[in-house]
Amino acid sequence: MICAEYEALPGIGHACGHNVIAATAVGAGVAHAAVADELGLTVRVIGTPAEEGGGGKILLLERGAFDGAHLAMMTHPGPADIVEWPIIAAQQFRVRYTGKEAHAASHPQLGVNAADALTVAGVAIGLLRQHLGVSDRVHGIITHGGDAPNIVPAHTEAEYTIRSTTLADLETMRERVLRCFQAGALATGAALDVLPRTKPYAQMHHGPEICRGVPAQRGGIRSPLRVVTRTRWPRPTWATCRWSFPQSPRNRYRVPAGCQPPTRIRRPLHHPSRGSGTA
Ligand SMILES: [Zn+2]
Repeated sequence: MICAEYEALPGIGHACGHNVIAATAVGAGVAHAAVADELGLTVRVIGTPAEEGGGGKILLLERGAFDGAHLAMMTHPGPADIVEWPIIAAQQFRVRYTGKEAHAASHPQLGVNAADALTVAGVAIGLLRQHLGVSDRVHGIITHGGDAPNIVPAHTEAEYTIRSTTLADLETMRERVLRCFQAGALATGAALDVLPRTKPYAQMHHGPEICRGVPAQRGGIRSPLRVVTRTRWPRPTWATCRWSFPQSPRNRYRVPAGCQPPTRIRRPLHHPSRGSGTA
């Protein structure tokens, strides 16, 4: 199976290069078709939508799209050649606070501020980050913060993503992050609803035999970038589309302590500059 992602990002288009994923998948499928009978293989190219939100591959897997497959492969463009992306577990979810409207100046004492609940949750999550594992990530946006500055916000919403090394780690982290949102509800009196946006993605297991063959197969392809394999990744930091670099003397991008993005990368993934000419 060769997976063809193709989804763009809201507002910044193909800043993750999924258009390139689709093109390379089709190219690989056409190339394999020429030799599939000779090798006794069945090669399928499958379009995999909803990879920037929606958990598309999870639904495809559950509905049998990968039944009988021995191997699934995909390429993803990026600023280095990496054979074994450490892809960790991830889940998206929405939160909604419901408070009570009131005039923000004349009767603020009668309001229950759902925007304040998000603020409390955001502060709690910010403090929690100090105590998360090095591969854990929590990030989100406020999708509805209120309706007018003179109305105490009664309805607010946010979308968040959490990531951790394994599904079990993710579940532990999810409980800790949810307590931050509960803190917002407790402090303000607003009601909290947590709505899963996708089922959780599990961490990915690479096929070691296939991965060992990749550097040899690309031997004739000129690239200024090194091939990085899993053994040089001390810290798994990826889940779907999130980027960090390993500390490694053999990696041309040196990373200071921690997981800061390398400063030499001028065009990170999910930046509009990658929207045209991503390769
Ligand atoms: Zn991506």
